[in-house]
Amino acid sequence: MLGFVQKISQEKAIDLDKFHCWHPFTRQQEWTAADHQPLMIESGDGVWLKDMDGKRYIDGNASIWTNIHGHNHPVLNKAITEQLGRVAHSSFLGFGHPLASSLAKRLTDFFPNSSLQRVFFSDDGSTAVECALKMAVQYRIQSGQPKRTEFIAFRNGYHGDTLGAASLGGVEAFFAKFRKLGLTVHFVRDIEELKAMSAEVIERVTGVVIEPLVQGVNQIHVWPSGMLAELREWTSAEGLHLILDEVMTGFGRTGEMFACQKEGVVPDFLCLAKGLTGGYLPMAATLVREEIYDAFLGEAEKAFYYGHSYTANPLGCAAAIASLEIFEQEQTLVGVREKAIFLEQQLNLLQSKCPYIFEVRRCGLVAGIELRQMDGEPFAQSEAVGEKVCLAAREYQLLTRSILDTLVLLPPLSITRDEIEVAVAAIEAAIADVLG
Ligand SMILES: *Cc1c(COP(=O)(O)O)cnc(C)c1O
Repeated sequence: MLGFVQKISQEKAIDLDKFHCWHPFTRQQEWTAADHQPLMIESGDGVWLKDMDGKRYIDGNASIWTNIHGHNHPVLNKAITEQLGRVAHSSFLGFGHPLASSLAKRLTDFFPNSSLQRVFFSDDGSTAVECALKMAVQYRIQSGQPKRTEFIAFRNGYHGDTLGAASLGGVEAFFAKFRKLGLTVHFVRDIEELKAMSAEVIERVTGVVIEPLVQGVNQIHVWPSGMLAELREWTSAEGLHLILDEVMTGFGRTGEMFACQKEGVVPDFLCLAKGLTGGYLPMAATLVREEIYDAFLGEAEKAFYYGHSYTANPLGCAAAIASLEIFEQEQTLVGVREKAIFLEQQLNLLQSKCPYIFEVRRCGLVAGIELRQMDGEPFAQSEAVGEKVCLAAREYQLLTRSILDTLVLLPPLSITRDEIEVAVAAIEAAIADVLG
């Protein structure tokens, strides 16, 4: 049976890709151009990925913000393989399984006194958010406030690509085309603008959605410290739900297991995905306050008629439990806090040497390095400076992506100091190659 997954040459793989595959967020015209040689990843180990030519790179964006403990981690591999020997998937619709029970307990244990007691599993960040939105609306219908159907979100936020989650998206280039098809969402810039909203609008709103502490896709925009706690206070006073999208910030990224813990905040809905399985399998969870859940009890029509085929997939649960074990075994959070300080020092040093670095924005092991012209003016977007620098960084063993001209460094949490040095040196060399 070995060799069932046929081994093909890199050339063949690229040909087939260009003929059949459609990549996310990708200008396919350029991707499929004859002179574009896509990087084909074949394997990974720790923070390193290897391409089909055998070249190694640091996974500087943690495989699109998912990877936590590194690739090919023995504990994660073992947990998944052991579960594979039992059953790969069984339905959570109509049945339960022990791994989902244990995982739900472990996730809710991060929030004392059963303050977030209930877990709804789904598949990815978008669905974690999507289901929070539907629950929020249905909760209002079933608790005598049917007019509360609208949401408030923050400008330039990102919450996923399914239609409901996309309605909350504040990035015009992505979402403007679909705006009128989705939910009604009021966008605000910051908490001051939020607090200034008219009572007449707030009456129609069910909840406020935010990426706590840091907006990822918005070029790593770090919120002012204390803002989240203030938001919790305000939403509670107004009777609005606080829906936290911790799809990127969750699982240690900011130095706490969840970003909301940094400001002692317990939300009404907590949306988790990307790092939940350590970045090994697609899985998501929406944690909910029991009081919200209670509104779905009683008559049949009150149930939450929502779900996905792979909800609570046992392999995903096994990986998620193993990942939480590794957090304890490897003292991952302690490591993140130390390494975050080291990263900050390295980036400050880099900034002092490089006149094109306009600003470094950082929160835990998330960093955005914004490039501008020496006079502080942004580069013309058509110059694609950020993209070019990331491409150049490959020559120095770093894979990462830019958002406009902000270079994003968001490595697996298991990255070492030495590897951070390699990554920062790669950025320095790449900026020099592109901008001189
Ligand atoms: C990635 C991301 C999502 C969407 O998650 P998917 O798994 O890609 O659907 C939602 N919110 C935030 C903050 C994200 O970073």
